[in-house]
Amino acid sequence: MSDERSAPRTSSGPRKKRTFQRRKVCRFCADKAVTIDYKDPRTLRYFVSERGKIIPRRISGNCSAHQRQITEAIKRARNLALLPIASPHVMS
Ligand SMILES: [Zn+2]
Repeated sequence: MSDERSAPRTSSGPRKKRTFQRRKVCRFCADKAVTIDYKDPRTLRYFVSERGKIIPRRISGNCSAHQRQITEAIKRARNLALLPIASPHVMS
């Protein structure tokens, strides 16, 4: 049995910088035309994972103000059954 579970990471380059996903600007700040509307699940879906969870801000790249609005909108949309509260079938 080879010990491949603890693979040495010597092959990786000497990257000191943390791999920070290139800073995404909040799309709602960047584009004023895009509005947060709980009646628009297509926009909201972008901020919901496949399992129906809300994407955290540091991943979605939203600013705190808009993230709050997104969260509110998603919760409303859930109540209106526009978004799933949880995925009906988790295939894995
Ligand atoms: Zn914003």
